[in-house]
Amino acid sequence: MTNVEGVYAVGDINGKALFRHAANYQQASVMAQFASVASGVSWKTVHTFGEALGLDRQLDPCPSAIFTHPTIAYLGMRESDLTSPYVKSVLWFKNHDRGIAIMPKTGFVKVLVCAESGRLLGIHCLGTDADVLVHSLTPYLWAKTPVEEILTSGTTVHPTLSEVCRNVLFDARKQLLDLGRAMDPLARYMA
Ligand SMILES: Cc1cc2nc3c(=O)[nH]c(=O)nc-3n(C[C@H](O)[C@H](O)[C@H](O)COP(=O)(O)OP(=O)(O)OC[C@H]3O[C@@H](n4cnc5c(N)ncnc54)[C@H](O)[C@@H]3O)c2cc1C
Repeated sequence: MTNVEGVYAVGDINGKALFRHAANYQQASVMAQFASVASGVSWKTVHTFGEALGLDRQLDPCPSAIFTHPTIAYLGMRESDLTSPYVKSVLWFKNHDRGIAIMPKTGFVKVLVCAESGRLLGIHCLGTDADVLVHSLTPYLWAKTPVEEILTSGTTVHPTLSEVCRNVLFDARKQLLDLGRAMDPLARYMA
């Protein structure tokens, strides 16, 4: 809200996330709420409707990319942000079949996972298609899905860099098991 009550502002000016996609998302949220008002839903309900769609929530955290060479993309926490126990797993492209095929000079996917809940806290990609790859895990981070559930919820095409995003979770799962995390047998042994 601005300093005028009832007047709200979207985009950079509200300081939430200074990105074009964040401004677009906030604008879509406003338009959805106007559309709901026009269809006769009360403002209070509409506000809840916006939240139900995740229109506010999904800006925090907001994915972002730096279009350098190599490209960098990330979502969520960095190691320096974390104060509670976590596990870190890194998979370099050069240790994956597709990574070998495209022969990048560098490139990796790194995940940070909460040691207690098993949820993704941060996703960091560097290298070829990093700005695309970050989206492979983004919905899971927003949905607070534990690593073991991500691994048992489907698969990715082999050999793709998307598979790197999946395979990096196997190491995170192993570290969670080493820390004594309980896991159902399917998640424990799936490879
Ligand atoms: C160099 C650069 C590179 C960027 N690269 C990316 C990127 O790759 N990806 C990404 O997501 N984001 C990027 N951004 C950020 C992105 O541009 C902003 O987050 C986005 O434009 C915010 O949109 P907005 O509508 O809030 O503000 P703006 O796009 O800045 O629009 C604000 C408008 O208000 C106008 N205005 C200001 N004051 C007044 C006034 N008093 N009266 C009337 N009009 C006024 C301005 O002229 C402007 O047209 C980049 C920004 C910069 C500077």
